[in-house]
Amino acid sequence: MARTPLDEYSKKRAFEATPEPAPALLRHPAGPLLFVVQQHSARRLHYDFRLECDGVLLSWAVPRGPSLDPSEKRLAVQTEDHPYAYASFEGVIPPGQYGAGEVIVWDCGVYSPDEGGTAFHDRAAAEERGRRDLAAGKLAFELRGEKLKGSFALVKTREAKQWLLIKHKDRFVTTDDVTRHGRSVLTGVAVEDLVAVPVRRLPAERLVPTGRVVSVPAKLAPMLAETGESAFEREGWMWEPKLDGYRVLAIIVEGRLHLRSRRGLDLARDFPALAG
Ligand code: MN
Repeated sequence: MARTPLDEYSKKRAFEATPEPAPALLRHPAGPLLFVVQQHSARRLHYDFRLECDGVLLSWAVPRGPSLDPSEKRLAVQTEDHPYAYASFEGVIPPGQYGAGEVIVWDCGVYSPDEGGTAFHDRAAAEERGRRDLAAGKLAFELRGEKLKGSFALVKTREAKQWLLIKHKDRFVTTDDVTRHGRSVLTGVAVEDLVAVPVRRLPAERLVPTGRVVSVPAKLAPMLAETGESAFEREGWMWEPKLDGYRVLAIIVEGRLHLRSRRGLDLARDFPALAG
């Protein structure tokens, strides 16, 4: 798609007045492509569906939000490309600014632009395929998010900029309304909480694996529970109840699941239903 990326994005916004990220092309050399769905409480609540391609986020506004039910085809209106850094944007766009209202990251993860999900690890091939299929008006893709999983398609209609977002049949299909899960996958806040809760921003690179690919070390030492004087609140920490049972390291290598105890013992036989 021959377009000048981010010009339209810039023209619509005054960056001294909005906390949204300034335009910047950001190309990652490797790693899977990112997708994000932001819930945006603008004049009308809607969901912004975005797919990373060629250093920007291709964007569609989905008024009713995505669905995991293949019979629910959701209108998706293509909007201007957004900068990559927008993927982690949560906050309040002030009154009077374009898109004024609250934004949360409703879901995010990685995608592969094909039905089988074969291009997660080949970025160049994935971007080329995404570009080609979007230009042809139909893109099938596989999502690995927290709320949205499995195979979907974006299909262009005869109306300009109007697409349909459709779930394909697979094991993730459900008639339960996925938009009832309303909280941010990054911070746990609901969009209506944002006016009261300050938001700590994560760099967008943190939403997907962008590091070097290395093989799994033969030995891994998980952190162990320890006794403390009292609970505290500190950046980089979160709390979970300590449960008795197995602590297992689960590692997938080339589609095979390996389960290891913290001492390095193979636990595959203890969980045959998982490792089988
Ligand atoms: Mn929006």
